[in-house]
Amino acid sequence: MVFSCIIMQKVLTYPDHEKREIEEAYQLLLDSIKVEIDDTDRENIHTAYELAVEAHIKQRRKSGEPYILHPIEVARICAAEIGLGPTAIISALLHDVVEDTDVTQEEINARFGEKIGIIVNGLTKLDGLYNVPSPQAENFKKVIKTLLVDIRVVLIKMADRMHNMRTLGAMPQHKQLKIAAETSFIYAPLAHRLGLYNIKTEFQDLCMKVTDAEKYEEISKKLEDSEKDRNEYINKFIRPLRKSLESTGIEYRILGRPKSIYSIYNKIKTKKVPFEEIYDLFAVRVIVSVLPKLEKQVCWQVYSMVTDFYKPIPERLKDWVTTPKANGYESLHTTVVGPQGRFVEVQIRTERMDEIAERGFAAHWKYKGVTSQKENVYEQWLDTVRETLESQDGDAIEFVNDFKTSLYNEEVYVYTPKGDLIILPKGATALDFAFSIHSDVGYHCSAIKVNNKLVPMGYELQNGDQIWITTSKNQKPNKSWLKMTVTGKARGKIRAALREERKEQAEFGKEALGRKLKNNKVDFDEGTDVLVNHLKYKNRLDFYYDISTDSINLAAIFKDFKVEGGKLVLIEEEEPKAKVEENAPPIKRKRAETDFKPRLMINGEEGDSYDYTLATCCNPLQGDRVFAYVTAASGMKIHRTNCPNATHLMANYGYRIMKAEWIMTANSSFVADLVITGIDSGPGVIEKMSHTISSRMGLNIRSFHIDGNEGYFEAQVGLLVQNKDQLILAIRDLQNLEGISSVVRVEE
Ligand code: MN
Repeated sequence: MVFSCIIMQKVLTYPDHEKREIEEAYQLLLDSIKVEIDDTDRENIHTAYELAVEAHIKQRRKSGEPYILHPIEVARICAAEIGLGPTAIISALLHDVVEDTDVTQEEINARFGEKIGIIVNGLTKLDGLYNVPSPQAENFKKVIKTLLVDIRVVLIKMADRMHNMRTLGAMPQHKQLKIAAETSFIYAPLAHRLGLYNIKTEFQDLCMKVTDAEKYEEISKKLEDSEKDRNEYINKFIRPLRKSLESTGIEYRILGRPKSIYSIYNKIKTKKVPFEEIYDLFAVRVIVSVLPKLEKQVCWQVYSMVTDFYKPIPERLKDWVTTPKANGYESLHTTVVGPQGRFVEVQIRTERMDEIAERGFAAHWKYKGVTSQKENVYEQWLDTVRETLESQDGDAIEFVNDFKTSLYNEEVYVYTPKGDLIILPKGATALDFAFSIHSDVGYHCSAIKVNNKLVPMGYELQNGDQIWITTSKNQKPNKSWLKMTVTGKARGKIRAALREERKEQAEFGKEALGRKLKNNKVDFDEGTDVLVNHLKYKNRLDFYYDISTDSINLAAIFKDFKVEGGKLVLIEEEEPKAKVEENAPPIKRKRAETDFKPRLMINGEEGDSYDYTLATCCNPLQGDRVFAYVTAASGMKIHRTNCPNATHLMANYGYRIMKAEWIMTANSSFVADLVITGIDSGPGVIEKMSHTISSRMGLNIRSFHIDGNEGYFEAQVGLLVQNKDQLILAIRDLQNLEGISSVVRVEE
């Protein structure tokens, strides 16, 4: 075997055009390195490159191209887009070598040293994860653990994910969905937390391209179409600003950039306005180049110039220069009324702030010590991550979910009685605050005052709150505390305390069981195993616990057993009494109007053998892009690819995803829920709507509910349609009716 491998490698080589392609990619990587490197670095990078080229020689990517192009490109992203140095570049080149080839971890350590060894090891997936609920979560937990040792692990992981997302097109659709779900569930928020703004934005856009392709194309086309107008507008807006900036002699740049497709889509969704009515499709950014000590002063000076020309909207002023965001972001934002009454967001920042905003964590080290307050933003966060990890009991899914709270987009700023600023994720409660001060303060927290008023422990903190905690030795966490906390730290600590208490309580049950078994002359371990299996407990602890709380009756259970030769033996029951339920409902419930089974291909084969149902969260209909998800308890569900609930499931249980495609049939009928809003121009509106639907379109209405208020109405209409095309036509026709302002298919 070993022998044949050696021969294979000698014989195998790339065709010339691929050799050139690989060399070019490598040159591109070298050219993109932004930090100073010396000859030793250059040599080491080259050694890593040659090792990777050789190790991956037999592998190809899904697209058919040589696999080695992947690690080279990941290294290039690290260098060019995150600004990392030689250690990270070498580790990125080697990141898949141990996982996928014959090269061992020991060889890496020996050739490249311990530091790179640790990083590469952190990037290698765990082996043999078959008996765990979520291999994805286990692997992610491993990455986070190494993150605490060397932050570069997670930065390289970001670059790795970015290249995979950019080249997702070569993957089959259900894999695309799984990878996109995982990306939007954890990688995009993590990129945000690390301050990698560009990477986060691109992640979100790439995910949307997979899960919501139509909307993505629609918005991207509209952005393109409006580009010329937008640029003209931006130039007009900027012109007077340039004049006054130039008069001050400050070195500056001005950019006008459209916002990301994903963020525009979010606005359309949350504000329920069409694309054309979104005022801030772009932001104008003024970047100045000044000495550190003048930063704040100059930013406000620019603010003052901007507002000399354009009227600001006071409630949209955000000063992250004085108090940076928890992810390190610094910038002064304002929204002003520009020409033609359009709202324009203006972001004012220095070159340093801009670099931190784009490259986040990676840039942070470069500027360490430049300003005082930023010193600890990342260290504080890393502490939280460490605490979340420490207080976990090995459940990876629980960990990932707790970890996610440390990534929250928004935060709330509160104060200790001494006036120290504490930053917590938005939604954090008074009890979260107690745990953030110290776990003992949390454990024994008995009363909380906010701004001198007593509040319940679950009180949601507001910006500027000042909080006093009273503790009492007799206080201890109980189960309800989990409902009153959101931060990973508090929840982890509470769970640990509850587990400890449960263990103590369970001891009483264990003793009772021991006595009972001893009285019956049965060996403790053997007898316990028989009972645990018989009662289907997952572990002994749960069994002991239930005995201790009298949730189960030991005496009654023992009646089902006899003792034979020191062993517990189940007494065989006689023929079970046939249970006849009178007036039992017919097993197959007839579906009122949609009495047909939708037909789908599952994993490329006709899905007749599967027992699937349409998910009620997103109500897919024939023609929607869908996938199948195998639930733990209720069979297979068909979801739309843009279903809001599915992301979480896919990210944690990706292996349960199966490909699903419609088998288009004519005699099908689906319920599509629409929300129609408009102006209530008298009694005719409802009539017109229902007439259009039933006579002109020939569709049936299954449900109809209308609410009116001061001349406006909102109707919820359940329509029976054959497929998506029919629905699209129906929406268009309804939209054209007089008095109707919007027709939207319900997404959730
Ligand atoms: Mn990779």
